[in-house]
Amino acid sequence: MAEEQQAQLLDGKTLAADIRADLTQRVAKRLAGGGSQPGLATVLVGEDAASQVYVRSKHRACQDAGMVSFGIELPADASQAEVLAEVRRLNADPQVHGILVQLPLPAHLDEAAVIQTIDPLKDVDGLHPENTGLLAQKGRQPRFVPATPLGVMRLLAEAGTPIAGANAVVLGRSNIVGVPVALLLLRANATVTLAHSRTRDLDALCRSADILVAAVGRAEMVRGDWVKRDAVVIDVGINRVDDAEAKRGYRLVGDVASDEVVGHAAAITPVPGGVGPMTIAMLLENTLKAAELQD
Ligand code: NDP
Repeated sequence: MAEEQQAQLLDGKTLAADIRADLTQRVAKRLAGGGSQPGLATVLVGEDAASQVYVRSKHRACQDAGMVSFGIELPADASQAEVLAEVRRLNADPQVHGILVQLPLPAHLDEAAVIQTIDPLKDVDGLHPENTGLLAQKGRQPRFVPATPLGVMRLLAEAGTPIAGANAVVLGRSNIVGVPVALLLLRANATVTLAHSRTRDLDALCRSADILVAAVGRAEMVRGDWVKRDAVVIDVGINRVDDAEAKRGYRLVGDVASDEVVGHAAAITPVPGGVGPMTIAMLLENTLKAAELQD
């Protein structure tokens, strides 16, 4: 039997707090030098409770860092033309450096068209096809990369994980997490496999991973025996599971059964407190970058 070891817990909360403290200083320096105050605008359509919570925390984080934020709220039945008009208004507003359209949008709206209307220089969510293209093409410098994938890479760097030449398996192929994570790992010279709901023999594939990133949205889908000894595991998933003993009646778990993994992985991110806090820190970093690009 291999000896038990305790995986390093990659503490995203502390790392994010450090990054945010550093950003706060950079913003203060910018203001002291006569620069404009970085501004983030969020566009929220409808009243989805989870989206409202996310948007609120983004505004709070902006204020904490000395940035200004603008919350645009449109009714759930807003028309495509109304949403596009709002995005165009924000594109033209010099106080707004970053624009974030909170997804998902109500089903009657054309999400791709809305994202495509955002000025690519203000696209702090990194979802405009121009920014995706810059990330995907060899020899190009990415401009804006979605915040969660940036957070994943920072956590790997913090863990001192060697990426070049490593076998990386990414579970999930969304525009906002899986695909950009895979592209960033590829840029860092990992050999990347991007898996999804149609992938065969997922457990065997995961066992080949030196670096395993799970972004699926299925509670504890990745079991202990899917993870090889000394792998580094980044758990992006945030899932609610019923828990009568929890104050709110539920608790949050990741896509990885972390209890089964901590005994043999090299490192793992906790849920909560791993990737989640990094996402906000990276959004702030993108907003400051947007302000700098627009100087
Ligand atoms: P999506 O629902 O957009 O994508 C999920 C992906 O998982 C899809 O590519 C899907 O495959 C794949 N998938 C679904 N079921 C399986 C399966 N059984 N086996 C293999 N792959 C499967 O989700 P997101 O990318 O937006 O989010 C993923 C998770 O990350 C969620 O839990 C979300 O809450 C969390 N999240 C966390 C953030 C953070 O800050 N920590 C930020 C953003 C998301 P297919 O394409 O074939 O359908």
